[in-house]
Amino acid sequence: MPDTMRVSVLHDIEDIALEQRPVPRPGPHDVLIRVSAVGTCGSDTHYYEHGRIGGFVVEKPLVLGHEAAGVVVACGSDVTRLEPGRRVSMEPGVPCFVCEQCRAGRYNLCPRMRFFATPPVDGAFSEYVVLHEQFAHPVPDSLSDEASGLVEPLSVGVWASRKARVGPGSRVLVNGAGPIGLVATQCARAFGATEVVVTDVNAQRLRLAAELGATSTVNVADTALRDAGHEPDVLIECSGVRAATADAIRTIARAGRVVLVGMGGDEMTLPVAHVQTFEIELTGTFRYANTWPTAIDLAASGAVDLDRLVTHHFGLDEVEQALTVAQRDATAVKSVVHPQR
Ligand SMILES: [Zn+2]
Ligand SMILES: [Zn+2]
Repeated sequence: MPDTMRVSVLHDIEDIALEQRPVPRPGPHDVLIRVSAVGTCGSDTHYYEHGRIGGFVVEKPLVLGHEAAGVVVACGSDVTRLEPGRRVSMEPGVPCFVCEQCRAGRYNLCPRMRFFATPPVDGAFSEYVVLHEQFAHPVPDSLSDEASGLVEPLSVGVWASRKARVGPGSRVLVNGAGPIGLVATQCARAFGATEVVVTDVNAQRLRLAAELGATSTVNVADTALRDAGHEPDVLIECSGVRAATADAIRTIARAGRVVLVGMGGDEMTLPVAHVQTFEIELTGTFRYANTWPTAIDLAASGAVDLDRLVTHHFGLDEVEQALTVAQRDATAVKSVVHPQR
């Protein structure tokens, strides 16, 4: 085991540099993981460009990256579930385990959550990381390193489908065909939805949505959603666009469910009369809880294709390119950083 490792560190807005740091030591319940692949996320790009997301502010150097996979290389003294050599997908948030929310099983709402790449907790754009053994989930060899990292965004889709109670015969509208919309689309089909309509303004992403299981697509740049003839019972809102969110809610059927996943509209105007007269249930989602085993099985069984989302690969010295490639290349869906390259 080397003493030091390369780490990609965000120092300031649009200022990322490679550094040498000591390889961390696992605590009693932690494993040390050699990181093989880390997907880049809109939140990473947002921290890079703005230095903050809402109340989370980058006040000291921060390592980004939270969609990570790797291989266990060392175990803390009390680790029982894992041994060196195990390939794992990392669940990037470790809660306190004892607060009211944790004890109720809603550990995603733990106020003391320590989540990768969320100030002040470092993420995974790094050669090695330590993680609590319960949050390092073994993956089968059939799952690629990239897909093992992208179990994280898939978990967002699993959580959204659960919150929306998607089941056999559900008619689902997915607003937005970015990476989260594309995993939500596949999840909804895997959960039994017989109709999944996907909207976006990017024709290429809509084609990908159709390839991945959308039963129809609507390009809302040239077709008003209300004219498209769909009356879904579930909206999984992944665009974060205010007008698009309101338009989509107006199409939801009686007793339907709306799950707000996309971020972007901190405050927005909603069609409340429609929500009231149609008795629509509307909820937010924050990350996920207890989704990894299901997400891994969905990806390993082929029900969800995560590799298909990967469009770009970068080394650890190219994190800035990985975070900004979507601005230069309209075909970009998901960039993956490979810290060992
Ligand atoms: Zn993410
Ligand atoms: Zn807690």
